[in-house]
Amino acid sequence: MKTRNVVVIGGGFAGTAVMRRLAKRLPPGWRALLISEENYMIYTPLLPEVVGGSMLPGHSVAPLRQIVDKRDYLYGRVHHIDMDKRIVHYGENGGHELPYAHVVLACGTRAKLDLVPGMAEYGMPLKTLGDALYLRNRMIERLEQAEQTEDAQLRRQLLCFYIVGGGSSGVEVAGAMSDFFSAACRQYSRVEAQDVDVVLLESGERLVPEFPPSLGEFALRAMRHSGVKVRFHARISAVNEHGCEDNQGRRYDSRNVVCTIGTRPVPLIEQLDLPKQKGRLSTDADMSVSGFADIWAVGDCALISNRASREPSPPTAQFAVRQGQQLADNIVRRIKGRSTQAFSYTSRGELASVGHHRAIARVFGLKLSGFPAWLLWRAFYLFKMPTLLRKLQVYFEWNVGMIFPQDVTQLHYQRTQSQDPPAAERTARQ
Ligand SMILES: Cc1cc2nc3c(=O)[nH]c(=O)nc-3n(C[C@H](O)[C@H](O)[C@H](O)COP(=O)(O)OP(=O)(O)OC[C@H]3O[C@@H](n4cnc5c(N)ncnc54)[C@H](O)[C@@H]3O)c2cc1C
Repeated sequence: MKTRNVVVIGGGFAGTAVMRRLAKRLPPGWRALLISEENYMIYTPLLPEVVGGSMLPGHSVAPLRQIVDKRDYLYGRVHHIDMDKRIVHYGENGGHELPYAHVVLACGTRAKLDLVPGMAEYGMPLKTLGDALYLRNRMIERLEQAEQTEDAQLRRQLLCFYIVGGGSSGVEVAGAMSDFFSAACRQYSRVEAQDVDVVLLESGERLVPEFPPSLGEFALRAMRHSGVKVRFHARISAVNEHGCEDNQGRRYDSRNVVCTIGTRPVPLIEQLDLPKQKGRLSTDADMSVSGFADIWAVGDCALISNRASREPSPPTAQFAVRQGQQLADNIVRRIKGRSTQAFSYTSRGELASVGHHRAIARVFGLKLSGFPAWLLWRAFYLFKMPTLLRKLQVYFEWNVGMIFPQDVTQLHYQRTQSQDPPAAERTARQ
């Protein structure tokens, strides 16, 4: 008997939107299954909050088993898709097989660390929950090291953080880091907030180009008000153990370089023999991969033309969700033998927090900035959190965080060593 599985690969914004819609609309006898390599969905717009310590790491993610039906989620990485036999190979060494009638690629992207020489070795990307935790730990570690050293130059290097990229992510993380240092330094006796430098490096001549210029100017003023330094026309061309360098030969001395620019396809998308443009899957207007009626692509991994704007969709969570919903409808239409529809969506606007209880927002054409925009930012993301439990946890956490001191606990994730290190290593460490 022919399979009636719709297999969705990737449990991010796009994949979960497809699953939720299919759960309501698939005809009887059909089944949607989600395969994702992590058993949670990351709420990426809140990663800067994790870095800044206003949100616990676990609260920026939601369990997939609570977002989709527990019987429809399969844990594991997809290694290969046999497009002739219509089988997805997933799990350890691709040992599990799942036949499909339709497959949806919703795999997102990963950080492009080879964009700048040295970035992979010395830079800190911000794309995953692990990245956010690593950066937060690094900030705390640097405060502890600076508290101990007498060497003024080393101290400056330890306490200087360069952030590459002045888009929304760069501005949000710079604001969050600056807020963190202002609050955390009160718990150190020899480090003052003014000893810490948070510097945003932008290759263009304005911040947040995705927002109107007046909001870009507000973001710049807000950054400066929070103590963040901004350097324009700084296109970073190399990162090394001493910091980074721009294409005009200017050097930025620091031991901490954060990278918020550049993405590349995940290994599965790279490996698949499907049409692509600049690493993203080429799709027809209805989001099926060009030339394939049973393979669909959605979210950041796909290049999807938007009929409403006549432009390619931007790689944002807002578009990923809308694409996911409309793609699910198209699969149902295809199953029922009806004609599919082109993706079409008019953006409702954008929001970005810029630190110190300020944000910028463009909502339904209306521009907002400052504290009202920040309240809107928090209310919007609270409303959008996937489960009621998370909404409550985040609500209490945000309120409690406004009263109590910053948490400077440095969390290490290493298991107890099963045996002592060799004697020579022990001596070297002392
Ligand atoms: C720091 C940061 C801040 C952001 N802020 C905003 C914002 O404020 N507003 C906004 O609209 N957008 C924002 N974005 C962009 C937004 O996160 C993306 O556009 C969105 O996540 C895209 O959704 P997606 O479902 O396509 O991919 P993702 O959310 O990346 O999900 C892809 C999923 O696929 C899984 N996967 C990948 N390969 C495989 C495989 N082989 N097998 C199984 N599973 C696999 C991954 O583990 C992941 O769970 C931000 C991004 C970052 C990094």
